Amino acid sequence: MGPPGAGKGTQAERIAERFGIPAISTGAIFRANVKGQTELGKQVEAIMATGGYVPDELTNALVRDRLAEADCAPGFLLDGYPRTVGQVHTLDGLLAESGRPLECALELIVDEDAMVARLLARAADQGRADDTEEVIRERMSIYRAATAPLTAIYADQGKLRQVDGMGDIDEITARIVAALADLAD
Ligand code: ADP
Repeated sequence: MGPPGAGKGTQAERIAERFGIPAISTGAIFRANVKGQTELGKQVEAIMATGGYVPDELTNALVRDRLAEADCAPGFLLDGYPRTVGQVHTLDGLLAESGRPLECALELIVDEDAMVARLLARAADQGRADDTEEVIRERMSIYRAATAPLTAIYADQGKLRQVDGMGDIDEITARIVAALADLAD
């Protein structure tokens, strides 16, 4: 977990590789669908362009299907999901069905102003449709209102681990690896 721009995608790829499990990014899956103009892509394109959240029904169905794929059998890392209380409950249900509860929720602690600056720089570089200043501010405010409170749920369950997400990418990876060391096997 962590606000837009926190580096979740970058770190998720690295950590997943280290554990030999897939990194599943709902945002990346939605973007691929928009690019390919699939039915799902057409449904979510306008929502994503304004920085809003895709409705839980669509997001939950997508995650349910993805977690049923064979590569998730040894475990998986979710990036950008769950983002709402409804998604937390759905994920709990899915994992209970398969008899493997969530091991850990990892939060990257970052400075929000630095994130806005970082995303604006990425906009110039990658041209993501949701990286304009107005949309970035909207994504931040939705994160603060709808998603940041979820960390309290995972803290109550004793599953939340927080890592300083500011600094050098390699250093942050090392911090995360250290924070997850007991889950390695
Ligand atoms: P970021 O965290 O930088 O905003 P993501 O790639 O995680 O980027 O998400 C991009 C967009 O995809 C979100 O703004 C939202 O519209 C949609 N999205 C991704 N994951 C979810 C989710 N779990 N629930 C609802 N919408 C989502």
